[in-house]
Amino acid sequence: MSGIISENKNNAALILDEVRENIRKIVEQVIRPNADRIDRNKEFPSENIAALAKEGFNGILLPEKLGGWGLNYSAFGIAVQEIAKACPSTALIYTMHVEAARTIYAHGNEEQWERWLKPVRSGKFGTTSTSEGATGGHYWYNLSEAARKDNGYIINSQKSFTTSSGFADFYVFQTKTPNAKSPDDITYFIVDGHQEGIEPGEWSAMGVRGNHSSSLRLRDVYVDEKDRLGEEGEGKEIVQNGYRDFGRNTRLRQAESPSRRE
Ligand SMILES: Cc1cc2nc3c(=O)[nH]c(=O)nc-3n(C[C@H](O)[C@H](O)[C@H](O)COP(=O)(O)OP(=O)(O)OC[C@H]3O[C@@H](n4cnc5c(N)ncnc54)[C@H](O)[C@@H]3O)c2cc1C
Repeated sequence: MSGIISENKNNAALILDEVRENIRKIVEQVIRPNADRIDRNKEFPSENIAALAKEGFNGILLPEKLGGWGLNYSAFGIAVQEIAKACPSTALIYTMHVEAARTIYAHGNEEQWERWLKPVRSGKFGTTSTSEGATGGHYWYNLSEAARKDNGYIINSQKSFTTSSGFADFYVFQTKTPNAKSPDDITYFIVDGHQEGIEPGEWSAMGVRGNHSSSLRLRDVYVDEKDRLGEEGEGKEIVQNGYRDFGRNTRLRQAESPSRRE
């Protein structure tokens, strides 16, 4: 798989072909054989996520300096499409992880990249937790609100759906800013998934029983200031401009337009 960038770095079509060829290998060797069992048993597909991480797919959009491939959404789209043909549960987990990692890369600082994104290459994975029952698909409105405490925040929140809840190593978590003036005065945090007070709900949904997209409660969870993404109140901008400029310098874009190379 390491050949993707090194051997085909000047040819976008060849890079995408190689992404497709390599994801199909993982799908046939690991993901498809597990699919029926994980759906029947409501089993979280940890082995599939580990196989994707091992071959570098979990860092598909991340830059090489963080152990990623620096590819773009065309490559990601091919990967997730091939995974979804065999196992929709794994495809959704993968999608939410890539989105969470992308958000940290696009809006976090270098220290956050080191702590949260470097470990992705060795199998740590995340998800995004935004939606609340009262506001549903209008996920840029939250009713829960962070409170300031010591050098950080206390979060009490009930999310309606969070893919990989109870399994993710980190949550890109959205809630209202302390003393918010409106429901869209929101702030993002990176929440360590392995701490007390994180309580996933029950999950069962036809065809995607393995992805554990249940409700998620945070009960008195402390998040240090260093794990806030951007500034207080910047959440709305993260939602609205999340994709702006992202991937401008990806390897694929460079391959498509050599003149743009830095
Ligand atoms: C499998 C699965 C995984 C998910 N994973 C995550 C995750 O990882 N992280 C996360 O944050 N969220 C996740 N979600 C939540 C998802 O992003 C949506 O927020 C959620 O599905 C909205 O559902 P709801 O029932 O609250 O819908 P509602 O917003 O209540 O909508 C219900 C219906 O009403 C319609 N409707 C809503 N508002 C209006 C309006 N103003 N006018 C007209 N019609 C309207 C909608 O179109 C829809 O048909 C997941 C959801 C599912 C199903």
